[in-house]
Amino acid sequence: MASTSDNGVQPIALTGNGGIDRGGEHRLDEAWLGAAWSHPTTRVFVVSGGQALIEETEDGRTELVTMPSFDAPFTEAHRYFLGTDEDGVRYFALQKDALPGRMDDAARPAGLREAAPLLSERDNELLVHAVALENWQRSHRFCSRCGERTVIAAAGHIRRCPACGAEHYPRTDPAVIMLVTDAEDRALLGRQLHWPEGRYSTLAGFVEPGESVERAVIREVAEEAGIVVGEVEYVASQPWPFPSSLMLGFMARAVTSAVKADGEEIEEARWFSRDELRAAMEAGEVLPPSGVSIAARLIEMWYGAPLG
Ligand SMILES: [Zn+2]
Repeated sequence: MASTSDNGVQPIALTGNGGIDRGGEHRLDEAWLGAAWSHPTTRVFVVSGGQALIEETEDGRTELVTMPSFDAPFTEAHRYFLGTDEDGVRYFALQKDALPGRMDDAARPAGLREAAPLLSERDNELLVHAVALENWQRSHRFCSRCGERTVIAAAGHIRRCPACGAEHYPRTDPAVIMLVTDAEDRALLGRQLHWPEGRYSTLAGFVEPGESVERAVIREVAEEAGIVVGEVEYVASQPWPFPSSLMLGFMARAVTSAVKADGEEIEEARWFSRDELRAAMEAGEVLPPSGVSIAARLIEMWYGAPLG
């Protein structure tokens, strides 16, 4: 679990405890789901294309726009049960082709990157769950065993094949993201070919089949920057449903220092001391990662202060 440390580093977005009990034991209980849906306190929001409606409240907070189920554009084929909050309120998301229109101007569509810094931990937990399910549902409509069209089950958490009986579960792809430091406590930052001029960030890559996450850290750093890594320490994870990743954040200690960028994924990689990074940021030569990504938090943990 990430936390705000006393040096001002921000918490890692999307990893907080929003107090939602996912209630997985209810997903196959149609009678329970029907009663939960019909309950007057139940709240529903629409997710479409990774977005939901958010709005500012009168007291200046930002929250998900939810509605009671009797106002919701119900179709059972696209209903996800997300869980129950600490006040006993049940939440459902409806996956639709478009977000509903609103009579007022207060609500606006937002994806997780925009919404996560604004929403409460509860709303973030609900939205990231819904977006991850939607991404999986939209891209797994056919059975990977026999090719038949599959149908939604378990309140959005299974797709079932009517032809061969296979059950398909939501997919999450583990990826490692690591800040590499050396014996002088410098940090290794790299830039990808397609990034804007000056953008530098941590190295990252997908875990391969049959590979531990620690080995993936070592392999990726060697491949992308030619650096040999010794000690690898897990820090925190971040759901990253763009479309289906789970980012596993690490600090890694280099045992060599000669950088050789692969020239494919990573155009350039170099060591920065804190003073060098500060000077480069102030001169506008380096744009550190910003926003909700765990990359910014890993760099801040080393840097000791927020990045810009
Ligand atoms: Zn099948």
